[in-house]
Amino acid sequence: MSTQNEKGTALITGASSGIGATYAERLARRGHDLLLVARDLPRLQALVERLSEEYGVQVEAMQADLTDKADLLAVEQRLRSDSAITLLVNNAGMAMNGTLVEADLDTVERLILLNIVALTRLSAAASASFGAAGRGAIINIASVVALAPEMFNAVYSASKAYVLSLSQTLQGEIGALGVQVQAVLPGITRTEIWARSGMDESALPPGMIMEVGEMVDAALAGFDQGERVTIPSLPDAADWAELISARAKLGPNLSHRSAAARYK
Ligand code: NAP
Repeated sequence: MSTQNEKGTALITGASSGIGATYAERLARRGHDLLLVARDLPRLQALVERLSEEYGVQVEAMQADLTDKADLLAVEQRLRSDSAITLLVNNAGMAMNGTLVEADLDTVERLILLNIVALTRLSAAASASFGAAGRGAIINIASVVALAPEMFNAVYSASKAYVLSLSQTLQGEIGALGVQVQAVLPGITRTEIWARSGMDESALPPGMIMEVGEMVDAALAGFDQGERVTIPSLPDAADWAELISARAKLGPNLSHRSAAARYK
């Protein structure tokens, strides 16, 4: 892979479809070389051909099941050793449906391995490489259910709350080293995720579904503006700022020597 590209290489997980494939297209258009990661190699190779031809950038496919430790370590190792990589898009993820009591716990475990464990290891590897180089960016794809756990499946929502929390802490840890960290919180976006997790997309309110191109363009606009958290459909950014300041107000009272008077 070339190290000559000024923009560097973007490593995108879950690049074979949906949001990840759309990031791949948009970042190629911006002039990034790409390293595309997912399980479905033929789909990745089709993207390699199309994007390298259309945009004249270098595109490489890397087949990996990120729930498989050996595959995950190979991607992590690539992030640590390839100094051309300047952007990590931690996008690969899966959803599930139904209550926790009724859930298939092997599916729950796979979701946690993909949405949490893989994202954490790759964030750590990228933080180390980018931090040492004093440049680079990590885009973590969370979800609005990080803020609204009542809306959806427990484990999926909790996994996305984790992604948001991790990203916010990471901003403090590596922001000063010149590394940008953005958490993206999409609402319902038209991709294969619904069918893959056994949900009927046609049952979703059409007014709540965003097309994937519009979602990724908005997220990249937020990235360009240096936003730490981007909620593509939120009309008034002040609403998010208010939540942050309400949280900050709790700060000084979250840990005291004695319990609050109402508990005595
Ligand atoms: P999608 O079309 O189903 O894409 C998921 C991607 O993840 C695919 O490229 C898939 O590729 C990859 N993937 C799945 N399991 C994998 C594994 N074990 N190892 C490696 N790659 C794996 O869904 P999407 O909507 O674009 O989802 C992308 C991200 O957006 C996810 O993190 C999702 O939680 C988040 N999100 C989606 C929505 C929405 O409404 N669509 C809303 C909020 C957040 P292979 O099958 O080829 O491996």
